[in-house]
Amino acid sequence: MKTIFQRIIDREIPAKIAHEDERCIAIHDVNPQAPVHVLVIPKSPIARVGAATADDSSTLGHLLLTAAAVAKKLGLAESGFRLVINNGQDGGETVPHLHVHLLGGRPLAWPPG
Ligand code: AMP
Repeated sequence: MKTIFQRIIDREIPAKIAHEDERCIAIHDVNPQAPVHVLVIPKSPIARVGAATADDSSTLGHLLLTAAAVAKKLGLAESGFRLVINNGQDGGETVPHLHVHLLGGRPLAWPPG
């Protein structure tokens, strides 16, 4: 059973794409929690960061570097931004395909709820 993100990667359902390369895709979240809310998703189907292995190290690094590059592209380099990875039930994970949330465009409270 494909996740919704795998279906987006496979072009079975549409998404607003902010960035794509051979290893990941970045899409605008359908339910944005900030003026900028982008999801950076690896094309390899890692379920969650807690399921990643040493073999995924390069992919994990690529996701963070890509998130920072997309933040810059979308004008957040000066104002700032937040990267979030939800893992498991208490972490608020709803889609079991690893994704980095990029949030910005407004001041973000800390600690998160
Ligand atoms: P998480 O709760 O960390 O698993 O995040 C899943 C995110 O995916 C949520 O912020 C959803 O709003 C978002 N989402 C779900 N379906 C789609 C979709 N088809 N296109 C873009 N974002 C989606």
